[in-house]
Amino acid sequence: MNQADVVEVESPLTIQSPRETAPPKAAGNSFHRTFDRIGIALIHIGTVYAFYRGADFGLVAMAVAFYFVRMFAITGVYHRYFSHRTYKTSRVFQFLLALLGTSATQKGAIWWASAHRRHHKYSDTEKDVHSPKQRGFWYAHMGWWLGREHEETDTSQVRDLTKFPELVFLDKWYVLGVFACMGIAAAIRGFDGFLWGYVVSTCFLMHGTFTINSLAHVYGSRRYETTDTSRNNFWLALITMGEGWHNNHHHYMSSANQGFYWWEIDMSYYILKGLEKVGLIWDVRKAPAHIVEGTATSTSAAA
Ligand SMILES: [Zn+2]
Ligand SMILES: [Zn+2]
Repeated sequence: MNQADVVEVESPLTIQSPRETAPPKAAGNSFHRTFDRIGIALIHIGTVYAFYRGADFGLVAMAVAFYFVRMFAITGVYHRYFSHRTYKTSRVFQFLLALLGTSATQKGAIWWASAHRRHHKYSDTEKDVHSPKQRGFWYAHMGWWLGREHEETDTSQVRDLTKFPELVFLDKWYVLGVFACMGIAAAIRGFDGFLWGYVVSTCFLMHGTFTINSLAHVYGSRRYETTDTSRNNFWLALITMGEGWHNNHHHYMSSANQGFYWWEIDMSYYILKGLEKVGLIWDVRKAPAHIVEGTATSTSAAA
């Protein structure tokens, strides 16, 4: 590995600085705003139509496969890498991971990380991007995503990411990854492939991801007395490949594994361990024993 290619990371919390003034924002793009809103509406209408049309085993398998590959792109990549830098990788693989992430139809890695870092920084306070405690369940689930308030990138949160022009490009043109995903699904099984591989799986992926912002702050158990309302929820951990251990995650956000014990199933972490084994990622961080045992005072501000 050429050292020049290695991405040196800083802890996100050393980058964030408290501020009371309005955040600096990246320039908006009306095409993307329109694409997002119309796209989300069409994905829901298309999902209803797909169920009405019916499917065979192959189409359902396609929907499941497209769901889990892209769920990993959100959990193992956008969340655990770009938002929290819980492992290191090369600049080339970083780009490929970000490219895979765009196929999930949740915008670019930089925008996603910026909104998510704000969620941790201001968890369940007025400045939280999506807090069921502040603005209700549906706002935390989807309202914040559809509204105008958070549609642009708060660049003050992501200076470690904006220094990579290729990531800035992907953030601006994340629709290319979306179209590529649609094209692959259609190439496999034509119109039905597009419907089940892209439309249905994206609809479930969207709501699956959003449950962590809504349900995981409402239903489940609290192992750690964090300053927010985060909870651990086994069922959410299954559908989100490990993100349901959300109370663990708010307790210590810099860990690549969110399931702290062997019985806390965390599919994203198992995949990350596989990528580490083959040398594509390294320095995969885990929570220290005293954090897991809860003997140290740790809050959502732990990094
Ligand atoms: Zn949370
Ligand atoms: Zn997080």
